[in-house]
Amino acid sequence: MHDIRVMKGDITVLDVDAIVNAANTTLLGGGGVDGAIHRAAGPQLLDECRALGGCQTGEAKITSGCRLLARYVIHAVGPVWKGGHHGEDELLAGCYRRAMDIAAQKGICSIAFPCISTGVYRFPKQRAASIAVRTVRDAAARGSSVKTVVFVCFSEEDYEIYLALCPSPERP
Ligand code: ADP
Repeated sequence: MHDIRVMKGDITVLDVDAIVNAANTTLLGGGGVDGAIHRAAGPQLLDECRALGGCQTGEAKITSGCRLLARYVIHAVGPVWKGGHHGEDELLAGCYRRAMDIAAQKGICSIAFPCISTGVYRFPKQRAASIAVRTVRDAAARGSSVKTVVFVCFSEEDYEIYLALCPSPERP
């Protein structure tokens, strides 16, 4: 049984087992949610990321949460939107699927996702949200240690989109 929640706010302050970062292929930090996570976690996060040697688009890798309340950060690399005919949908689904797989391998119970690729990578928000919710539901249905998934929306627009996709029985 899993619980899908939708909230508006800052993913860096959440008390969950793992937060997911919308990283880039270098894993060496960037703007947006990536910058916010590195600032909140402290410089040790960059040291851990350096040791990972980058990450391919559609894949994910895990570090500790350093100074965050979350025990882990799962760094997922979403695709840059190039019009939709360059495998963007499958690569975005890959991020969510890999993050859920890694979480299950670690025995993680609660995980929070930002809206991967929908910032500077320009993936259309509605399309990205549909992929995110579908992929996470499918992963949870396969059986997993993950019991709580939180979709963290930074903008009101994303929040409305996710609320519509996750009807009230799935909300707290
Ligand atoms: P990408 O490069 O994958 O598009 P961005 O960081 O530019 O990544 O944006 C991804 C999403 O993260 C956007 O919806 C953005 O509004 C959101 N975001 C930015 N800062 C935060 C934060 N502190 N907590 C949660 N979401 C955030």
